[in-house]
Amino acid sequence: MLLREAAGAGLRVWAKGGKVRVSSLEPCYDGLLERLRVHKSEVYELLAGGRCRCCGGPIDWRRPGGVTFADGSAAHVPCYEQDEIAHFLAAADRAVNGAAEGLARCP
Ligand SMILES: [Zn+2]
Repeated sequence: MLLREAAGAGLRVWAKGGKVRVSSLEPCYDGLLERLRVHKSEVYELLAGGRCRCCGGPIDWRRPGGVTFADGSAAHVPCYEQDEIAHFLAAADRAVNGAAEGLARCP
């Protein structure tokens, strides 16, 4: 996802006053700013909670089924739950594999 790529590149992206704002301490050379500019309406909807931050699909707030986050973004409940499960599984994998690596290094 473009926002994750931006965060990974050290960009801070937020919505304010109906616009997408971007700041960075480092110069951005890989066309990321241009892609953010081209997709600014979708980026704004993601940041403002109009689209799911997991799947990118629109969120219909007239019906239950959405989760909001402190940063103003939102997700469908099933997408959020899948994302949480993926995070737990990744943490469990790191714990098991990290423990296995630690045992392999033991004399
Ligand atoms: Zn979703």
